[in-house]
Amino acid sequence: MCRHAAWLGAPRTLASLIHEPEYGLLQQSYAPRRQRYGTINADGFGMGWYDAARAEPVRYRRTIPIWADANLPALAQVSRSGCLLAAVRSATVGMPIEETATAPFTDGRWLLSHNGRVEREAVRELADGAESSCDSAWLAAAVFVRRRAGHPLGDALAEVVAHAGAKDPGARLNLLACDGASIAATVWGDTLHLHLDDGVLVASEPLDDRSGWQAVPDRNLVLASPDGVRVQPL
Ligand code: GLN
Repeated sequence: MCRHAAWLGAPRTLASLIHEPEYGLLQQSYAPRRQRYGTINADGFGMGWYDAARAEPVRYRRTIPIWADANLPALAQVSRSGCLLAAVRSATVGMPIEETATAPFTDGRWLLSHNGRVEREAVRELADGAESSCDSAWLAAAVFVRRRAGHPLGDALAEVVAHAGAKDPGARLNLLACDGASIAATVWGDTLHLHLDDGVLVASEPLDDRSGWQAVPDRNLVLASPDGVRVQPL
C-alpha cells in the first residue's frame, strides 16, 4: 500500500523526502523495500508544506505516478518548511483514483495521510461526509471532526484508530499527520520508521541507509514536537 513520510525540524525542502535520498518517495513509488502490501505506488501522490504567507498549508496532489510529473522536481526543490509531509499511493482495490482520494488530506492547518485499508462502514459514523468515497478520505474526515472539536493531533488519531480498529479487525491504520508544529503517527498493521538528527523524520520505510533508523513497533502512537519524540501504546 502507500508509503508516506514527514519531517519536523530545521527547514528543509520536499525534495529531501522525495528526490534527494537514495530511497526517497520517488524510489519508493516503484521499488519500495519494506512494503507489506502491494509492490508499486503509481496511483497518485501528494505533498504538503507550510509557508509564512499562508495560515493554512500548501497542498499539491496528483493522480499520476510521481515519476510522471515533470514539473515536480523543481517545485519540490523550492518548497521549504520546518514541517513537511508527502505520500505516494497504491489504491486499494475498489477505491477511486481521483485527486480527492489522494493524500495529503487537509483541514485548517492539519495534513493527513493514510497507509492501509479499512471497511468504510467502520468509519462512516465518525463523520458527516468525506471529499471522496475512498476509505482514507473517510478516515481523514473523522480525524478532522476531532480537530474542529479542539482535540490534540495525537488524541484525534488515536481515537479514530481505536474506533475503526475495533469495528474492523482486519483494518490497517497507519496514519501520519502534522499541523506545522508537530507530527503524530499511528502504527497499526504496516511499517513505520523514525530517524532523529536536527529534527525528526517519520517514514513508512527508511529513506536511506544511514544508521539510526528505528522501526516503531505495531500498535503504537508517535508524537513529535520541538520538545522531543514520544512513542506510546495505542
Ligand atoms: N486505502 C487507501 C487508498 O486506497 C490507502 C491505500 C494504501 O495504503 N496504499 O488509497
